[in-house]
Amino acid sequence: MIPPTPGRIEVITGPMFSGKSEELIRRLKRARIGRQRVACYKPDLDLRYQRDSIASHSALTYDATLVASVAHLREELLPILCNVDLIAIDEAQWLDSSILPLTSQLVLLGKRVVVAGLDTTFAGEPFGSIPSLMAVADEVTKLSAICMVCGAPAIHSQRLGSSQELVVVGAGGLYEARCRRCFLPYADDETSEQLELPVVSGGFGVH
Ligand code: ADP
Ligand code: ZN
Repeated sequence: MIPPTPGRIEVITGPMFSGKSEELIRRLKRARIGRQRVACYKPDLDLRYQRDSIASHSALTYDATLVASVAHLREELLPILCNVDLIAIDEAQWLDSSILPLTSQLVLLGKRVVVAGLDTTFAGEPFGSIPSLMAVADEVTKLSAICMVCGAPAIHSQRLGSSQELVVVGAGGLYEARCRRCFLPYADDETSEQLELPVVSGGFGVH
């Protein structure tokens, strides 16, 4: 009997505007050219531009199924799993830690799993399960953006404006890419709790 093709985990990470969605879409398009069967998902917290597709800030899109949780993703995926080679997940920082066992199971079944998501919060802390996924991945692509203050390579996502506006994930004008020098960690306690983000006790922004 021929053993199943080994699975593979790829993580695409970096700050906002670093091109994660663009890179994910590029890989999906190439996979389709290679006749891989693709299923693409994203948490429905991301209200950016398109409700039923992933979208880059440069207006590239790819059809995606919205999922409310990892359990929901699993439910959506199970019935079609036999007919899928590549499972893509965008904005995966919003998913709970059960994304890790799900990913492991998919890999054991010989699936290619490509996950894109922010590696750090607006406070500059490791974000959700992305760091753990990076640890178990076959390949990690860490992208940088361009700092909107000084033009240097940017590894941070800067939140601008008030906490009230926080739920508008990815909304234009509320976020900027920033380099280490220009980044000011966002440490609004109320907001951090609301999104279960780590709370930062002191500011480390240096100008
Ligand atoms: P991500 O998914 O990482 O947020 P996207 O793939 O959605 O990134 O968007 C990347 C695109 O965003 C770039 O190709 C560029 O057109 C645009 N862009 C806007 N602001 C910036 C920035 N500060 N640095 C780099 N690219 C930016
Ligand atoms: Zn800068």
